[in-house]
Amino acid sequence: MIPIAKPYITTEEAQAAYDTILTGWITQGPRVAEFEEKFAAYTGSKYAVAVSNCTTALHLCMIVAGIGKDDEVICPSMSYIATANSIKYVGAKPVFAEVETSTYNLDVKDVEKRITPKTRAILLVHQIGMPADIDAFRQLADKHKLLIIEDAACAAGSKYKGKAIGSHSDLVCFSFHPRKVISTGDGGMITTNREDYAQRMKLLRQHGMSVNDRVRHGSSKLIFEDHVEVGYNYRMTDIQAAVGIKQLEKLDWIVGERRKIAMRYNQAFADVDFLQLPIEQEGYFSNYQSYSIYLKPGCPIGRNDLMQKLLDEGISTRRGIMTAHRETAYKDECAGLSLPVTEDACDRSIVLPLYVPMKEEEVEMVVRKVKECLAVTHAF
Ligand SMILES: *Cc1c(COP(=O)(O)O)cnc(C)c1O
Repeated sequence: MIPIAKPYITTEEAQAAYDTILTGWITQGPRVAEFEEKFAAYTGSKYAVAVSNCTTALHLCMIVAGIGKDDEVICPSMSYIATANSIKYVGAKPVFAEVETSTYNLDVKDVEKRITPKTRAILLVHQIGMPADIDAFRQLADKHKLLIIEDAACAAGSKYKGKAIGSHSDLVCFSFHPRKVISTGDGGMITTNREDYAQRMKLLRQHGMSVNDRVRHGSSKLIFEDHVEVGYNYRMTDIQAAVGIKQLEKLDWIVGERRKIAMRYNQAFADVDFLQLPIEQEGYFSNYQSYSIYLKPGCPIGRNDLMQKLLDEGISTRRGIMTAHRETAYKDECAGLSLPVTEDACDRSIVLPLYVPMKEEEVEMVVRKVKECLAVTHAF
C-alpha cells in the first residue's frame, strides 16, 4: 500500500524527546524558548510564539487583532475547516471568497467584491504550501484599511519573492500536525514582528498569567503571578519543542526532497491533456505539502472513480481540499451562497501520495496507475 503521506521523523527526534523528558522540565521551559528563537530566525521574523496547534494559533491572532462580534473576516471556503472556525471563536463572521483553480489560493478580485464596512481582516491561506500573492493582498488591505492574518498551516519552508513565509506579515500561523511538512505530533507557531502581539499571545496561551514559568523558576526573589486577563491553555510542551527543533533542522532538506518528487510528477503528467498540474509562478516557492491535480472537464474518468480505482491498486489518495460552506456546521448560514469555482476545484481535484522518503518505484507506480486509469476508461 502506498500511503498518502508520512511524517519524516527519525531516532534523532525520539532521542531529543527522551532527553527532554529526563530533564524533568517538560512544558514551557528552555526547549520551547529555543524552538521559538530558532523558528523566528528561520522565518526571518522578530518573534515566534509556540502554541498547542495552528487552530489555537489562529484563535490568538483573532484576539490580538481585536476582531470580535459583528466583524467580518474574508477567507476561502476551500481550506481546512479550522480556518473558518477560528473566525467563529471570536464571534465574527467568516465571509467566504473564491479561489483560483491554478493555485487554490484566494482570488484577489473576488475578495475585493466581498469587502463591506464590517470587514476587518483577510485571512490569507497558503494552500497546501503554495504561497498566495501576499503583495497583491497587502495592496488591497492597505486600500481598505484591513489587517492580513496568514494561515500558513501548510507553508513552513515555502517562500514568496525570495523570503520565507512567516516574514511578510504581523500575524502568521503554522501547524506541526503530522500531515504537514514538519511535525511535533501536534503543535503550532505564530511569527510576528510586533513585540506587543508576541507578549500578549504568550500571556494568553498560559491562562493570562503575568509571569512565565522560566522567569519564576529563575528568580531568587519571591514572585507572585497575577492573571491579568481571561486566557487559555494553548501551551506547547518541551517534549514537542525538542522534536520541533530537530525537525526544523531538517526542514529545508525535506522541502528539497518533496520538490524533487513534485517535479517528477509534473514531468510525468505534462503530456496528459486532462490534467491541470500545480502552477508555481516566478517568485513562488512551494514546499509541496500536498501534490494536488485537477481533472479538467472532458477527463474520461470521474474524480471519485479514479480514487477508488487507485485504492484498488493499493494507492491511497485524498479528495482535494475541503470546502467549509458545504459542511453541516456551516450549511445553514451559507444557504444560498454560491461559490462555483471553489466547488468545482474541490470536486475535481485529487491529492496524490507524496512523502519523504518516497522511492522512485513508488512514484513510478503512482504515475503508471493514474495514466492507466485515464486511458483504460478512455477505451470504453
Ligand atoms: C492543518 C490546517 C489547519 C489546522 O492546523 P492544526 O495544527 O491541526 O490545528 C488550519 N488551516 C489550514 C489551512 C490547515 O491546513
